[in-house]
Amino acid sequence: MSDCIFCKIASGEIKTPLIYSNDIVVAFHDINPQAPKHILVVPKEHIKTINDLHEKPGLSAALMNACIEVAKITGLDKDGYRIVANCGEKAGQSVWHLHFHVLGGRPMKWPPG
Ligand code: 5GP
Ligand code: ZN
Repeated sequence: MSDCIFCKIASGEIKTPLIYSNDIVVAFHDINPQAPKHILVVPKEHIKTINDLHEKPGLSAALMNACIEVAKITGLDKDGYRIVANCGEKAGQSVWHLHFHVLGGRPMKWPPG
């Protein structure tokens, strides 16, 4: 999608340091971090929301594996972390290209706001 910010980051059109990448996924720091460590894990393919993942089980696994890899790279695997996917406006989704937030580095509250 020509006007999608995450497509532009994933393709390299917008230069962003990558924490992790492979053929399917890229991961980079959130521009407005909500925790000391806040990384976004994004499929290279433009997929609008998590609802659209149900027919792509291989991609679901690749995204989850990338989140785990990011947790290892950042040391969050030992410290504890949270994975969040906001789906739809009411949940707070603001970028309409599927992404998982990997958050950590501080105590997390429950329930989330
Ligand atoms: P959402 O609200 O859709 O769950 O999350 C979108 C996230 O993308 C937000 O946390 C926001 O800070 C982040 N974001 C929006 N635009 C950019 C950008 O251009 N670069 C980076 N690195 N993060 C962005
Ligand atoms: Zn996109």
